[in-house]
Amino acid sequence: MKQPAGVQAEGRTPSASPQIELRGAGVRYGDFWALKDVSLSVSPGERVALVGPSGAGKSTLLSLMNGTAAPSEGSVELFGRDLGSLGPAELRRTQARIGTIHQQFDLVGPLRVIHNVNAGRLAGWSTLRAIRSLVLPLEVASTRQALTRVGLAGKLYERTDRLSGGERQRVALARVMVQDPAAILADEPISSLDPVRGEEVMGLLRDLSAELGRTLVTSLHVFEYALSHCDRVVGLRAGRILFDSPSAEVTPEMSRELYRIDPQ
Ligand code: ADP
Repeated sequence: MKQPAGVQAEGRTPSASPQIELRGAGVRYGDFWALKDVSLSVSPGERVALVGPSGAGKSTLLSLMNGTAAPSEGSVELFGRDLGSLGPAELRRTQARIGTIHQQFDLVGPLRVIHNVNAGRLAGWSTLRAIRSLVLPLEVASTRQALTRVGLAGKLYERTDRLSGGERQRVALARVMVQDPAAILADEPISSLDPVRGEEVMGLLRDLSAELGRTLVTSLHVFEYALSHCDRVVGLRAGRILFDSPSAEVTPEMSRELYRIDPQ
């Protein structure tokens, strides 16, 4: 059933405090509101898909959720802390509890896989330790374990730019695994992959969040994956929440309305 903006879908654990909470959040670029009046609450362990046409505000919403963008109005709370009230050090510490996976993987091509995976630990390492690890990699065992889990056991010392797109996205997943965040955000994680590799990576992302008990919020352009891989679907259109619903209750009418093309 379609729900009005900001209304929580049923079937979630009401007792758990939300990890991510937006209240009336908006983002404005000049006169243009990329997001408007978004209220959304994500509880620990939920798997939430953000869907909607290109330009609907999905990436902007994810950047509010990891604190890389600040709201022009309203508030964003992570783990019960209002990001607007935090100083730089506290903000960094809070952000380190959120792991983000990008469409273009965001890896350093000429570096070996192990260094890209270890980049997930940087927030918890001193500068000296980070530099030492570039010469003599630290934490090799757990990095190997993460790479084994994503099916890249033999690629530890391979140059990252020699890997295929699907393999690079797996490296990005391993990096998030070693970061061990409380919540994983993914911005169109499979949009640059072919359908088979995309299905594999999406399945892996879902399984990892389930195995590790981590929250997952991902934007997706393949609507069917939102239904099959996430428990809850948030439909965004023109910067506003059109529906927020358990996947099982999303109807074809809701998706038609979401992607409707308005007459000029
Ligand atoms: P989506 O991820 O759903 O495709 P985005 O969040 O990337 O949408 O963008 C939402 C809207 O905000 C789009 O119209 C986009 O052009 C606009 N937008 C995003 N970033 C900026 C920016 N830095 N300056 C101006 N407009 C922007």
